[in-house]
Amino acid sequence: MADGTAAVAATGEALEALTASLRGGVLAPGDADYDAARALYNGMIDKRPRLIVRCADAADVIAAVNYGREQGLLVAIRGGGHNGPGLGSVDDGLVIDLSLLRSVRVDPAARTVRVDPGCTSGDVDHATHAFGLAVPFGIVSTTGVAGLTLGGGTGYLTRKYGLTIDNLLEADVVLADGRLVTASATEHPDLFWALRGGGGNFGVVTSFLFRAHPVGTVYAGPIFWEATHAQAVMRAYRDFLPDAPEELGAFVGLKTVPSMDPFPKAYWGRRACAVISSYNGPAADGERAMAPLLAAAPPPIFNWMGAMPFPAMQALFDPFFPKGLQWYWKGDFVQSLPDAAIDTHIAQAAVAPSELSLMHLYPIDGAVRRVPKDATAWSARDATWSMVIAGISADPSQADALKTWGRAYWQAIHPFNLEGAYVNFMMDDEAQGRVQATYGENYPRLAAVKAAYDPENFFRVNQNILPAAAR
Ligand SMILES: Cc1cc2nc3c(=O)[nH]c(=O)nc-3n(C[C@H](O)[C@H](O)[C@H](O)COP(=O)(O)OP(=O)(O)OC[C@H]3O[C@@H](n4cnc5c(N)ncnc54)[C@H](O)[C@@H]3O)c2cc1C
Repeated sequence: MADGTAAVAATGEALEALTASLRGGVLAPGDADYDAARALYNGMIDKRPRLIVRCADAADVIAAVNYGREQGLLVAIRGGGHNGPGLGSVDDGLVIDLSLLRSVRVDPAARTVRVDPGCTSGDVDHATHAFGLAVPFGIVSTTGVAGLTLGGGTGYLTRKYGLTIDNLLEADVVLADGRLVTASATEHPDLFWALRGGGGNFGVVTSFLFRAHPVGTVYAGPIFWEATHAQAVMRAYRDFLPDAPEELGAFVGLKTVPSMDPFPKAYWGRRACAVISSYNGPAADGERAMAPLLAAAPPPIFNWMGAMPFPAMQALFDPFFPKGLQWYWKGDFVQSLPDAAIDTHIAQAAVAPSELSLMHLYPIDGAVRRVPKDATAWSARDATWSMVIAGISADPSQADALKTWGRAYWQAIHPFNLEGAYVNFMMDDEAQGRVQATYGENYPRLAAVKAAYDPENFFRVNQNILPAAAR
């Protein structure tokens, strides 16, 4: 019908059929749970999807993908909902919400872990810790495993055990045509290669299988120095890291001392430099590992490293970063940290617009470099750090100030850095070519795999890789 009535009616019937086929459910504007379900971790992003399909199993995911394709809807995939630019949701489109899928099964004998796509890294840490095991994930336990893994995944265990993707053994994926395939080194190896760094470009992962490693009690925690010592600390950290044992994951940051207990009141709200570390092993060995850094740096304000269960370290910063804060992210891969770069960092961080705003440099050396650059889509294996500048505030009226600061900081520091950035530290306002620069020589192969598995670019609410034929 020319007036579109038939199309509307078809949509209604199709929607009824979808709803009837699901074990989970569908939420639409006006439904009681809609606003809670659409809320993202980053309070700066406010998207209003047409439909949210809350999936209870892979069959629901298949039904949602087929519905989205047949109805010509833009489709977003939501794991933990932590993505900076909110790519786990979409205005006026369909969200495949995996947050109900949170089971974890550990095989302690094989040292593998089967993980559902709605899990947070805290869910997995909780399950694996009972067996003295852990998978390398990020440093905040509420982050979704799915988005973090598909982007690469860096954290305290990375120097010893590699990126999260270096520990991915297998993934079940619902493709754009609704088929479910398993990707591994032996099944659909091209897809498996692309998934390891290529984000949500290739399909909806409904199950991950990871390799786990012996991790129990760690010697870990933050050390803070006054901002006046930042130059000395950053130089000492830079020179210390290459010889530090790989059991030590240690990142350096420019931050502010939080204005709350148990931080020393005299320092509340004052700019600071921090090294935050986790040594996987006995405390005495951890103290020995840290000794050269502490000897080279001035005396800190406090050193709160101590023995703790690994999941406690993973959750240490959760209270500072509740859902709903304003976040503006900029990233870069960093190969070296000359003195001039350190001075630029210090000058830019000094004018941060809020107490929570920060700059972190996460090490990606060690085991990451032992994997060839072309072994996975993720290609920045010659970098030393993944840098993030994050403007963060609880106050929405600061949104513009966070963006202005983040952009100015990045403009000043980028000339010292590599061209690309970790895709999970990018917003959606990057210049054309940043995604290509990030994948470097791997980009043409990624585009070819995209053309093979998603030729219509159905999955494009992400840091998008264009199918080779469409370029
Ligand atoms: C407080 C905080 C701390 C962080 N710390 C770290 C860190 O230490 N290390 C690190 O590596 N990263 C870190 N990150 C970045 C993090 O990796 C990204 O925010 C990531 O997108 C989170 O994944 P998610 O599943 O929660 O995101 P979502 O918003 O749910 O999804 C993001 C994107 O991932 C893709 N995706 C999600 N689920 C699936 C799926 N099942 N199948 C296919 N594609 C999918 C989609 O493209 C989606 O748009 C941190 C983020 C925050 C907010």
